[in-house]
Amino acid sequence: MTEAPLFRRLTLLGCGLIGGSIARAAKVRGGIAGEIVANARSDASLARIAELGIADRVEADPAAAVRGADCVILCAPVGVYASLAAAIAPHLGPGAILSDVGSTKQSVLRDVGPFVPEGVHFVPAHPLAGTEHSGPDAGFATLFEGRWCLLTPPPGTDAGSVARVAELWKRMGSMVSVMEPAHHDRVLAIVSHLPHLIAFTICGTADDLADETRQQVLQFAASGFRDFTRIAASDPEMWRDVFLNNREALLEMLARFTEDAQAMARAVRWGDVAYIEDKIGRGRKIRRSLIEINQA
Ligand code: NAP
Repeated sequence: MTEAPLFRRLTLLGCGLIGGSIARAAKVRGGIAGEIVANARSDASLARIAELGIADRVEADPAAAVRGADCVILCAPVGVYASLAAAIAPHLGPGAILSDVGSTKQSVLRDVGPFVPEGVHFVPAHPLAGTEHSGPDAGFATLFEGRWCLLTPPPGTDAGSVARVAELWKRMGSMVSVMEPAHHDRVLAIVSHLPHLIAFTICGTADDLADETRQQVLQFAASGFRDFTRIAASDPEMWRDVFLNNREALLEMLARFTEDAQAMARAVRWGDVAYIEDKIGRGRKIRRSLIEINQA
């Protein structure tokens, strides 16, 4: 006898890079969901999801998509979570698990928490995996393998439901850790949100250069600038929402970074070789540590 899947019906509200990767991983790996229901905003994406065959059923209406699901995962940009939560709340069944994949976690508790009906278990999550691509074609089954997924359940959340969400991510190949939401937002501000802000900014700075110089920036782009352009190719809507929903932590990290950049500028101006070498050395050390723990 084959073992029952972890969830009878798994609904993905949003099926782009992350939702589409969950759908694919669930299909390829098995043991995760008996049925996968997918929802997206546009007719074009709904049609594409159906064409790709990554879900068993495609539903245009979020309320209809969540009916009868024992696990619902919000996979849309965090700025639409409140309106999505309001639309689906009356249709969530008792005992269902409501989770998400949003990149900011305090905002998710703020925006979704108030709508969670009695008897529904709310277990927010954030897979630390992604690429600069978006939409239903961008997802792939191995995206979460060897990557961390952070869970930020509110105090008092049913332990069995937290364990099932952890199991979902483990079955997709992730390592799982539980974190307090404010701490999550500070950590992510430095490791992800600030680097994206810098990438968008540096591309804007290059683009503002005089025509002739801009042409040469593109023609002779060195790897440093090329790496920034890859990050800066990320989805504008998703990143706008991340910045606006992790405002305090992001601004704090940006202020620290600006101070450090000023100190580096001063060292360059005054030829402070020791300072410059120390900073570059610390960068190399961090890169080596990432390689050692397989997160490079
Ligand atoms: P994505 O590829 O752009 O996909 C977003 C999905 O949400 C699309 O299916 C989109 O539908 C749908 N959507 C947008 N607005 C909606 C609405 N009002 N109602 C219902 N569905 C809506 O984005 P993603 O990269 O998968 O990001 C999804 C979430 O994962 C975000 O919260 C993000 O913070 C988080 N996340 C992203 C990454 C990353 O690296 N990209 C990593 C970890 C977590 P349409 O296609 O029709 O617009």
